[in-house]
Amino acid sequence: MPETRPPAIRQIVIVGGGSAGWMTAAALSSLLPADQVGISLVESEQIGTIGVGEATIPDIINFNALLGIPETDFLKATNGTFKLGIRFLNWGGLGEDYIHPFGQHGVDMNGIDFHQFWLRYKADHPGSTIEEFSLSAVAAKSGKFTMPDANPRSVLSQLRYAYHFDATAYAAYLRNYAEQRGVQRIEGRVTEVHQDAQTGNITAIDLDNGQSVAGDLFFDCTGFHGLLIEKTLGVPFRDWSHWLPCDTAQAVACERGDAILPYTVSTAKTAGWQWRIPTQHRTGNGHIYASHLLSDDEAIDSLLKDLDGDVIGSPRKIRFRTGHRAKFWEKNCVAVGLSGGFLEPLESTSLFLIQEGISKFIALFPAADMPSVVRDEYNRQLVKKFEQVRDFIILHYKATTRDDSPFWNYTRTMDIPDSLTDRIELFREAGRVFRYEDELFSKPSWVAVMMGQNIVPKSIDPIVRTVDPAGITRSLQSMKSAMTSAVSNMQTHRAFLETYAWS
Ligand code: FAD
Repeated sequence: MPETRPPAIRQIVIVGGGSAGWMTAAALSSLLPADQVGISLVESEQIGTIGVGEATIPDIINFNALLGIPETDFLKATNGTFKLGIRFLNWGGLGEDYIHPFGQHGVDMNGIDFHQFWLRYKADHPGSTIEEFSLSAVAAKSGKFTMPDANPRSVLSQLRYAYHFDATAYAAYLRNYAEQRGVQRIEGRVTEVHQDAQTGNITAIDLDNGQSVAGDLFFDCTGFHGLLIEKTLGVPFRDWSHWLPCDTAQAVACERGDAILPYTVSTAKTAGWQWRIPTQHRTGNGHIYASHLLSDDEAIDSLLKDLDGDVIGSPRKIRFRTGHRAKFWEKNCVAVGLSGGFLEPLESTSLFLIQEGISKFIALFPAADMPSVVRDEYNRQLVKKFEQVRDFIILHYKATTRDDSPFWNYTRTMDIPDSLTDRIELFREAGRVFRYEDELFSKPSWVAVMMGQNIVPKSIDPIVRTVDPAGITRSLQSMKSAMTSAVSNMQTHRAFLETYAWS
């Protein structure tokens, strides 16, 4: 008979109180009765958190919904705004500009991807861009926003959104949520980690205030410190910096202007790129670069020169390494957040990868002995997720014609993972793109970036070649006019926020 008694894990210890720690605490406390499984979170104000992470992808909505967090409460608490996609400037080539929107382009017809019909349409309308057929992109470029319509027949059902927000405020909000559900927060710096002599499992941590915290299961949410997963358990790091050579960021906020753009801007620069993320109260900016090709002073000058509001404070330097742990779950320790791995924030995927770390753990919630089959499956799923996101991010660096600096000469000509080469070649051949397993990025995302960065198919789907081009033109123009009309009826993003989230 299957075991039906309550789980034998009685005490969970989360080390670290950044976004990863508090997201883990909030999610676990929403599921586990506090009288059966105790959860403590240890964090050190003296060490602090990384303090960046303002842009997200639509999956964050599911996370908040799982926790039962009302959207307006969340937006008010975090100074949140809406995000319809990312605008990429100077990536495919200097002066080029495209949007990677959330949601679909147009509507698939007869089971064939929309972009195939658009490729046929483009042959007769060479100035057309695929983003003209994305409701999210058209709304974003007009500075407009509204809520998606649940009715699938409405064009507004095609809208997808995420948020820009103050990540530190989000962690504080989740702390309150978790503490209300019985999570015990302990202030202190971990000075020693104890392991079982036979199994190597972590048994307890000692803090600088003399306290000792014991547990059955530990989450390492200590960020780049990797205190448990690396410094205690010695799990190696798989370094991806040969594919993603940026290793430093300078981050600074500036005053925001009157209009609040409903999208992130990513501007490619000489040796990296700069983000612009509008929240309700300020605009977050950061310059990410390869430090062996650009000095800190050059990076800061370039960052400050391209702000579009008065600077608030001074730039803060953050060093990072792209890659991931060979194992995210080792013995009785699960690494969630930056301790488990980091892909640079180009597609705002870090909070999503935290979510994945938590939800896949919940799906595999272990018995007390934490069998290796369970841990292996968790590690397999998480590694796959990181690799899929990695390929999508590398695509942005590889698919460029830029030859104006050593940085772009390197990324344009570097070897890339076979999985990405195959994908690009398949698309070049006849515009074919597939979504594998439960990977994050959908077909429209791959198409947006490949087309946006000049990977043009040699031919289109042979079936579409049999379709009357005049009929395709009529269908596409009718989709376009439905979108234009829907966007003309939307409020500006700012006006929407004023009534929805500021009142
Ligand atoms: P941290 O925030 O560093 O938290 C670590 C915690 O561990 C802290 O509470 C610290 O006090 C504690 N700790 C460490 N050592 C000890 C110890 N010895 N004893 C006790 N406590 C300890 N993500 C996005 O989704 N969108 C973005 O736009 C985005 N932008 C980013 C830009 C940059 C430049 C970088 C580097 C990251 C960005 N991220 C982004 C990632 C995002 O910031 C992180 O994924 C997220 O904040 C989670 O961080 P964390 O909780 O793992 O680590």
